[in-house]
Parts: sequence; C-alpha cells; structure tokens
Amino acid sequence: MNDLSTKTVLITGGARGIGAEVARKAVAAGARVVVADLLEDEGKALVAELGDRARFVRLDVTDEEAWQRAADFTVAEFGRIDGLVNNAGISTGMPLETETVEHFRQVLDINLTGVFIGMRTVIPGMKENGGGSIVNISSAAGLMGLALTSSYGASKWGVRGLTKIGAVELGTARIRVNSVHPGMTYTPMTAQVGIEQGEGNYPNTPMGRVGEASEIADAVAYLLSDAASYVTGAELAVDGGWTTGPTVKYVMGQ
Ligand code: NAP
Repeated sequence: MNDLSTKTVLITGGARGIGAEVARKAVAAGARVVVADLLEDEGKALVAELGDRARFVRLDVTDEEAWQRAADFTVAEFGRIDGLVNNAGISTGMPLETETVEHFRQVLDINLTGVFIGMRTVIPGMKENGGGSIVNISSAAGLMGLALTSSYGASKWGVRGLTKIGAVELGTARIRVNSVHPGMTYTPMTAQVGIEQGEGNYPNTPMGRVGEASEIADAVAYLLSDAASYVTGAELAVDGGWTTGPTVKYVMGQ
C-alpha cells in the first residue's frame, strides 16, 4: 500500500530513533532516501546498511545555508525531492517557572524554526515537480497540555499549526503537509530517561505500553505515499490512545 518506488525522501534527524526507522521503511518501500543529521558516524553507518538508494548529509536544521546544501545534494544525487520528513528534534522537561529564556529559544530554534526552514527550502522544487509530501513530526505534547513541557510542548504545538498553514497555502500546488504525533516511543531519546519497552510498562496510555519507532515510521510512510493522496492538514496521533484523555477505566455502576 505504501509504495514509495517513485519517491526521493529527505529525512532530518535520520541517523537514529524514529528517523532511522523512517529511512528503513522508506527504502524497503522502494524510495531513495537522504539521511540528514548532526550525527555523522551513525548516519553513515545507517546508509551503509541501507545500500545504493541511501545517502548521508550532515545537517544542522537551524542552519539555513546547510538546509540549501542538503537539498542541493539530494537533487544532485537523486534528481528531485518528493518527500520531506521534518523529524529532527530535542526533548526537554522542566517546570515553566524555572525554564530560561535562552533555553526556550534554543528548543524553538531546533524543533520549530528548523521545520519552517526545511519546508521553505523544499517548496520551490516540489512546485516544479508538480507536488510533494511534507511530514512534520510533532508529538502528543502538541495535542495536549503536558506538564513540564513549556518549551518542547510550545514547539510541538507550533509544528502542528505550521503544518495546517502549509496545507492551506500549498494544497493547489499538490504539496500535502501533515503532522504525526507520536506518544511515548522507545528511542535513544527516551531510553536515556528510563523509558522501557514491553507490555504493561506504560500505564499512562490505554494500550499500556510505549510505542516502537517502527510503528511511528509506518504512519510516516503512509503519509509520504500516494495512498494518502487526499490527506493534507491532518494530525495523525500514533500514541496508543494517550491523547484520547485520562486513562481512567471507569464503568457506570461499578
Ligand atoms: P532521537 O533518538 O534523539 O533522534 C533525534 C535525532 O535528531 C538525533 O539523531 C539528533 O542528533 C538529531 N538532531 C537533534 N538536533 C538536531 C539538529 N539541530 N539538526 C539535525 N539533527 C538534529 O529522537 P526520537 O525519539 O527519534 O525523536 C524524533 C522526533 O520525534 C523528534 O522530533 C521528537 O521530538 C519526536 N517525538 C519523539 C517521541 C518519543 O517518545 N521518542 C515522542 C513524541 C515526539 P543529536 O543526538 O546530535 O541531538
């Protein structure tokens, strides 16, 4: 269903975690991929694993010139950009009243301004090609007010909003723009704060477990593909039901 054999996809933060799984799924679905990340060793090892249809480029998503170089590299290697996955991001947590202005700006610079620059960089080429698909990785924290996420949550709500604006402005150019909202997902980002895989390890969600990066990647692959040809401006929660509301198993009369 998620055939990507005619697509070239640029994936930021693609060296590990969710981005790396998106790269694996996309190559398995026939795409050519460019993995863009700060992490050169991991990125190069991944593209070596993926073979001829994968390349690595170093990219700091806050750097406008580096974005243009990454886009030019992708076109030089594979001729075009059909899909952009704005996945790079950093996660932080602290109370609103101890968050600093400097840190707040830094998080927004990577998680939100980075997405904006990426979208702006690829739009002209996608228009020339007659369309494209942009998938912005927001978060469950961009769908609800999650404690201790003032900078991270604000950035992810911003990504959700920017996605809708892109969808509205670019619809007639046949460029689809959608956001994906992972719940708690097992990756290097969350492993370092003690998140564990397995059934029953995450009672906060109706499904009782954290997600796997490959489960997020499946949703991204769908949105990149022509199977989602009439889907734009959507916010796809892939979160085990976390954002449906408080996980209270209450039954009337019991
Ligand atoms: P991850 O394992 O930390 O991977 C993120 C990648 O992005 C890392 O390789 C990181 O490199 C890179 N990166 C960070 N800043 C960058 C920059 N300025 N330019 C280019 N690359 C940069 O994280 P993940 O869990 O896979 O998360 C991927 C995305 O999903 C993020 O946007 C995150 O907010 C979102 N998300 C994750 C979860 C979750 O539970 N894991 C939940 C909701 C949303 P460095 O290590 O060098 O920083």
